[in-house]
Amino acid sequence: MSGLEDLYREIILDHYRTPRNRGELETPPATRAEGFNPLCGDEIVVYVDVDDAGTISDVKIGGQGCSISQSSASMMSAAIKGKSVTEARDLVRAFKQMMSIHESGLDGELDEIDIEADLGDLEALRGVVKFPVRIKCATLSWNTLVQALEEAAG
Ligand code: ZN
Repeated sequence: MSGLEDLYREIILDHYRTPRNRGELETPPATRAEGFNPLCGDEIVVYVDVDDAGTISDVKIGGQGCSISQSSASMMSAAIKGKSVTEARDLVRAFKQMMSIHESGLDGELDEIDIEADLGDLEALRGVVKFPVRIKCATLSWNTLVQALEEAAG
């Protein structure tokens, strides 16, 4: 298990040091949403460009904050780019389900929950649920993405 935790730590640090899809998009046509986590001081700006077919053709991430918030945003951007809005929403749901394990009283039973979507690197953030105060860091970019997608649909 410690081997897996090392791997997870490495993935998180890699995304923190070399964030994917960093930058801005022109609005419009892109939409922009901002999120803030006052508990930790994390800020995330999400830009999404949704084409006529409902595909997220481009995504950019701005903001600053702790390693969990920034690496989660980087992983999210890599995971949703090129996906349909529907697929992205499914991924948000699966990710938030993974992050809410502690709320259902299953602390420590991290392998008990079945996640339908393939979370890929995002699995690396699974360990965050052991630190409830950091969960808002991990979910910030996802909540911000939902706002940006609503704006795009709007
Ligand atoms: Zn944070």
